[in-house]
Amino acid sequence: MAEWNPPNREYEFLFFEVFDAIESLEGLGFDDFDKDSLSLMIEGWGNHTKEVWLPINETGDREGLIFEGGEITMPPGFKDAYKRGMEEGWFSTSCKPEHGGMGAPLCFQSVTWSEYGTATCMALSVFPALSNGVYEVLSKHGSKDLVDYFARKLATGEWAGTMCLTEPHAGTDLGLISTKAEPRPDGSYQVSGTKMFITAGEHDMTENILHLVLAKVPGGPEGTKGISLFLVPKHLPSDWGSGPLAGSSHELNHQKNGVTCSGSEGKMGLHASPTCVMNFEQSVGWLVGPLHRGMPLMFEMMNRERLATGMMGLGLAEISYQNAAAWCRERRQGRDLRGARDPEEEADSILVHPDVRRMLLQAKVNIEGCRALASWTGILLDQMHSDDKEVSESASALVALLTPIVKAHFTDLGCETVDTCMQVMGGAGYCSEFGVEQFYRDVRISKIWEGTNGIQALDLAGRKITKDFGANLRHLMWPLIEFIEENRESKDMEEFNKPLYKGVRGLQQLTLMMVSEGMANPNFLAAGASDYCRYFGNVLLGYTWAKTAQVCLERRGDPFYDAKLSSARFFFDRIFPETISLAAKIQSGPKTLMEYPEAMI
Ligand SMILES: Cc1cc2nc3c(=O)[nH]c(=O)nc-3n(C[C@H](O)[C@H](O)[C@H](O)COP(=O)(O)OP(=O)(O)OC[C@H]3O[C@@H](n4cnc5c(N)ncnc54)[C@H](O)[C@@H]3O)c2cc1C
Repeated sequence: MAEWNPPNREYEFLFFEVFDAIESLEGLGFDDFDKDSLSLMIEGWGNHTKEVWLPINETGDREGLIFEGGEITMPPGFKDAYKRGMEEGWFSTSCKPEHGGMGAPLCFQSVTWSEYGTATCMALSVFPALSNGVYEVLSKHGSKDLVDYFARKLATGEWAGTMCLTEPHAGTDLGLISTKAEPRPDGSYQVSGTKMFITAGEHDMTENILHLVLAKVPGGPEGTKGISLFLVPKHLPSDWGSGPLAGSSHELNHQKNGVTCSGSEGKMGLHASPTCVMNFEQSVGWLVGPLHRGMPLMFEMMNRERLATGMMGLGLAEISYQNAAAWCRERRQGRDLRGARDPEEEADSILVHPDVRRMLLQAKVNIEGCRALASWTGILLDQMHSDDKEVSESASALVALLTPIVKAHFTDLGCETVDTCMQVMGGAGYCSEFGVEQFYRDVRISKIWEGTNGIQALDLAGRKITKDFGANLRHLMWPLIEFIEENRESKDMEEFNKPLYKGVRGLQQLTLMMVSEGMANPNFLAAGASDYCRYFGNVLLGYTWAKTAQVCLERRGDPFYDAKLSSARFFFDRIFPETISLAAKIQSGPKTLMEYPEAMI
């Protein structure tokens, strides 16, 4: 079985030493959460996932789930693990106390919670992650009646949630959906249609499942502008007749509400996560938010899920790295090129080989950099809710910009890192014993769901950058340039600050080029979007590495901080230079792509 230890020290360092989480959260309603209580939560969640989630991860993958007669039975141990997490309150940390939640900061829920959950059992983690997303949308936009009836059950995890967007002929292009919602006289709707690829659409973990469904009300505008959002439960209350839910009991009528599952996909990884075809046949549902405003509301949920998906890349990279590094420490092959390191042994440790170190350090530094950027993003998520307009505006702009980058760059790096961890272990990495083979299969979906990485890149380049004449970008450039200026005279910081400065200048020039060329030819922008997103990700990681180095330079002499400085050097020497080739690819434009004869593709 794969081993894993929660990287608690890393989070303590990032939240409390690099990004001043406690100061940043001041005045945001988290008075009960100080450094000690946040540390305890990090430690408690680490212990819980190691003890309860990790042991079921491999069996879940091996045994998978059973689909029979429209019902799904989860693999052994999943129901118990879910129940324990629910009873210990781990699924509702960021939900409101009036709904049974802890009211804890989102930086814990979105970052640490997501990393530990996905590292130890990604298949299980998606259940509470989805329910939390549905809770957020419902508690913010649902009618009082809906919130009163459903919010507590969702927050605690007693009832689970799903998001139902995709249809057989409508994936990225949701304007094509054909699921219909027809008004009923009592104010509810009758929802009919087929959704596919629905995660956790059916299972036996909870008594009820609440589906957030995108559907069109007949007579509305065409395309995405005519889409609305509905809450459709698997089971209705047993004493509900019609009209408002107020006063209905939470006992359920076990006749299904016309919601059935007609299949569960076989897939490459995540064998313990149901991926369902869901049929809604005149199912009773309730409108959430205003009519025809379904897409913006669903995007609110998806933005949260996109950050969580980025953390999947990081979580699976971390557990792969931990196992690969442990294996490499034991493995002896060949000799140190400069002369035998351990002549009394038959061979030296493979850690003497530069190429082995290249792989392990690439993995380690990618993980540490992404965790730092994630921690900053998590704190910004909380600051979005500040009463201080200046703070909330700036945080919202930054989160808008960072979301597609965290989703796409972290999952690209996550997949690359798990691949590297498999490679560094040779044949042992490809075989199942050490777990990396499973993580390689599990992590791959993260680049596809919640909007493919290509679509994230288009969102960044085509929307987030240009919105309000570049307002989002201005909110980012200001702290970046201020940081660079602040460190300009520091000799110690020069090796980090100089490349960062070049990267930021390059980003400004490429942005100008993308926008101006893109106005004349939209294919220029679209052809460069993925490389631009990666370039941008590198600049953000460069900023977090330089910031990390600034903190660690003051604490030199301690192995933890010295290792961080070595990581920062590795980043700028061996990862950041890829910005040069990315810039060249962006500048080459769309010609070679679009003029290639289509018949020969
Ligand atoms: C395991 C799993 C779980 C899932 N869970 C859920 C879920 O819970 N709920 C849900 O609603 N959906 C879910 N999905 C669906 C998932 O979100 C979609 O698969 C994903 O959004 C891509 O859509 P698609 O598969 O239809 O690909 P398509 O939209 O057909 O895209 C095919 C390719 O074309 C590209 N492309 C498409 N349009 C454009 C464009 N305009 N510009 C540039 N490139 C474009 C894409 O990037 C992609 O590379 C899940 C899928 C899987 C496999």
